[in-house]
Amino acid sequence: MKTLFSLSITFFLCCGMGLLSSCGQQKEMNVLLIVGGHDFEEEPFYAMMDKLPGITYDVAEHPDAYQNLKPGKIDGYDAVLLYDMPSDIPEDAKKDFVAMLEKGTGLVVLHHAFCSYDFWPEYTNIIGGRYHHFPWEKNGEEQPPSTYKHDLALDVKVMDTRHPVTKGISDFQIVDEAYGGTEILESVHPLLATDEPASGPLVGWTHNYANAKVVTLTLGHDKQAWENPVFSQVLSQAVLWVAISSSGK
Ligand SMILES: [Zn+2]
Repeated sequence: MKTLFSLSITFFLCCGMGLLSSCGQQKEMNVLLIVGGHDFEEEPFYAMMDKLPGITYDVAEHPDAYQNLKPGKIDGYDAVLLYDMPSDIPEDAKKDFVAMLEKGTGLVVLHHAFCSYDFWPEYTNIIGGRYHHFPWEKNGEEQPPSTYKHDLALDVKVMDTRHPVTKGISDFQIVDEAYGGTEILESVHPLLATDEPASGPLVGWTHNYANAKVVTLTLGHDKQAWENPVFSQVLSQAVLWVAISSSGK
């Protein structure tokens, strides 16, 4: 008992204070990465993923990816990272997706996964916004479809320097694709902003849905972003934040 108690105290002192790297017993967070529905350059993307500290991951690809959201399978993961872009989702997968969030499994939505599920309105409420492929309505007025523009040098401002996802990050520049004319809900907590006219005002935020923490990062189109150390730091901190919150579920 004494040994266990001492171990617990040590664990608390190391990990409870956020000194994860100094804690020899740190548990790696197990992440389910879902891809499919949008091409990307695999080798540099997975090279970046392999370097994220404290994270191990399995890859599931559509159309079979939803099998991994089923109860019993999803329970083995601390977080789900979406880098997919399907336009629709089967009814039973919707139920598994929402049930996973009700259980508190954390979710990170990366870049083109912001543009998924045109025909599933609830996805907006989950991730805190939407890229509209079709005209849409805001306050009773019709809005044009959202837009994208590649290879922009974006000046990104950190809106919350104390949040675990953006801790240690200063304002930075990144060459990336921007999504413009998008919908972002007022219920999001802003993390990263840009004044680039071709972009929506936010490129990173957190959102809560059911019992889950959600982070949406619209950055991350290609290796110009993946090889930016600030981008990979924000991504790893996002995954760890939602995963650690849900790992005790
Ligand atoms: Zn893209």
